[in-house]
Amino acid sequence: MARYTEARCRLCRREGVKLYLKGDRCYSNRCGIERRNSPPGQQTRSRRKVTEYAVQLREKQKVRRIYGVLEAQFRGYFEKAERQRGITGENLLRLLERRLDNTAYRLGLGASRAEARQLIRHGHFTVNGRKVSIPSFLVKVGDKVRIKDGWDSPRIKELLERAAENTPPAWLNYDPGTATGEVISYPTRDQIDVPVKEQLIVELYSR
Ligand code: SF4
Repeated sequence: MARYTEARCRLCRREGVKLYLKGDRCYSNRCGIERRNSPPGQQTRSRRKVTEYAVQLREKQKVRRIYGVLEAQFRGYFEKAERQRGITGENLLRLLERRLDNTAYRLGLGASRAEARQLIRHGHFTVNGRKVSIPSFLVKVGDKVRIKDGWDSPRIKELLERAAENTPPAWLNYDPGTATGEVISYPTRDQIDVPVKEQLIVELYSR
């Protein structure tokens, strides 16, 4: 399966903001962008005017990188968002939020989306009692997400403790007693805390 192989901190430096791709490290003083907040590669300052297209492109790349989605799949989400009622940019973010890897991360069952994705691929998650190993699986209202019984590795124990202490966004609920997360509604824009201007992505794809 295609995936990012580039060093993740380079992606943050490229976008000039913290994208929180490395879990706990992102909140520590070992964060790459706090050590060196300059674009990777050539360090000469460009005097070129930043075009409207470049601004739109960077916004799209930022969202792709936050959610760890490759270009073709991202385009697919955009086309689906366009077909839905409502505001296309918000629909796009809502679809990305509903991915199982993001949902697990939001529940605290992964220090990063990448960790949640890996655990899902390795078959550690169930939705409504059935194993789901597809990170892009879209959760629906009423779905119950949990780590499969029988995994008692130290990391899984840590994640269950993490989820019990975590406060998920309002569209999710986590019951520490049963170690189960539930989708109680679809996320609204104000419940999606990604620092992006999604309208710029709509403008980019409308060119
Ligand atoms: Fe980005 Fe900092 Fe996390 Fe690296 S540690 S992925 S630079 S937020």
